[in-house]
Amino acid sequence: MTVSAAEQEKTGLGNYFIANYPPFSFWKNTFLPEAYAALERPPRPKVPLGLYLHIPFCRKRCKFCYFRVYTDKNASDIATYLDAIVREVQLLANTPCVGGRPLDYVYFGGGTPSYLSAAQLDDLMTRLRVILPWDAAREVTFECEPGTLQKHKLETLRRHGITRLSLGVENFNPEILQYNGRAHLEEEIYRAYGWARELGFPQINIDLIAGMVGEDWDNWKRCVQKTLALAPDCVTIYQMELPYNTVFSKEIQQFQANSDRSARMTLELAAPPETPGLDLTIADWPTKRAWVRYAFDEFVKNGYEISSATTVVKNKATTRFIYREALWRGADMFGTGVASFGHINGVHIQNVDTWEAYIEKLQNGQWPFGRAFPTTERDRLIREVVLLLKTGHLDVAYFQDKYGVDIRREFADVLDQLTRDGWLTIRGESIDCTPEGLIQIDRHLPVFFDPQYISSRYT
Ligand code: SF4
Repeated sequence: MTVSAAEQEKTGLGNYFIANYPPFSFWKNTFLPEAYAALERPPRPKVPLGLYLHIPFCRKRCKFCYFRVYTDKNASDIATYLDAIVREVQLLANTPCVGGRPLDYVYFGGGTPSYLSAAQLDDLMTRLRVILPWDAAREVTFECEPGTLQKHKLETLRRHGITRLSLGVENFNPEILQYNGRAHLEEEIYRAYGWARELGFPQINIDLIAGMVGEDWDNWKRCVQKTLALAPDCVTIYQMELPYNTVFSKEIQQFQANSDRSARMTLELAAPPETPGLDLTIADWPTKRAWVRYAFDEFVKNGYEISSATTVVKNKATTRFIYREALWRGADMFGTGVASFGHINGVHIQNVDTWEAYIEKLQNGQWPFGRAFPTTERDRLIREVVLLLKTGHLDVAYFQDKYGVDIRREFADVLDQLTRDGWLTIRGESIDCTPEGLIQIDRHLPVFFDPQYISSRYT
């Protein structure tokens, strides 16, 4: 089936952004022996080690969310989960692959890590740091939902060495927040941000989403100006996508199954009566790109620098994002928690993706792995090319040095086409996205994939 250019520009169902390679759909449980073997090998020299911890609890489920999250767990369930994750970290710490290596970076993601109480966080972090200390880590990131923060919780995080606080703001408009299922209020953003600044966190990131349902130009401009007024160190702007398992996607699928009317009507029907006047269409890709372009221009006018397809930072030299830099350059990372992804000694690993299986395996002292994929040297090369292109820049010498490959020759046809189409420039040893190429780079990345991985469902 061919898809017209106009169809491609609509926000259809499915994943748009590329987060890994080879695609997740090729990871299998039959590869698990390779995962166990990877843990038994000593680490490759000079490869940094990271730890990702998935805290899968949220106050409510955002309608665009596709993560493994739970909104119905009580304090006893949470204690059970935190015990399991500590056990998982203990199992990992005992492997030859860790071998006394210090952690280079740590990331608490979710879900909503800040959903945990200050006491739960204090206990969890105290136990984790005994097993794998992060005092020497270059970065410890913690994701927060503004409405879950209190000052004493932030003090606990500061005391445990969190260096980078990431605030999931997404939008400032109360109706848009509510309609998209976000739990926080606008005033909670300012309150949380003020406390975080007062407590001196070294880096604060604000997440925004271009294209939440109900978004329009005037509101988006206000969101950008309000973000600028807060002056965060880093701003990450996602473009709304609709993977299959979100509430919005299910509403659309259900409606389409019952009717030949457009998906727009589904959203109108589902709109709560208290939000009249909202335009409930989902913006198409050109509109979302225009919003990101506007935001980038405004931030650059105010002294920020573009550091990737999704981020602007106050100062590229000092505002680093070590988690992303390390991971995209092939660092090792243990992905702990239900459904988490990691990459160890050349093997991709994902944990089992149900609560029951995850808890049961760890209570029995077993690895909680669900599927894996052992990468080849060529897979790793392509993975780095694809992911690093999202920073807008590829350094030919870096790949020559690491893989013994001149990527200008290895990917000559693809690079030539992308250059002719105006998405890239190649000057000497530097391959750079054009500004227009960068904000839509994800849709061009599959051309670098080996043939067996093209046109497959990504997840
Ligand atoms: S807060 Fe984040 S993880 Fe939780 S439901 Fe919303 S988008 Fe998903």
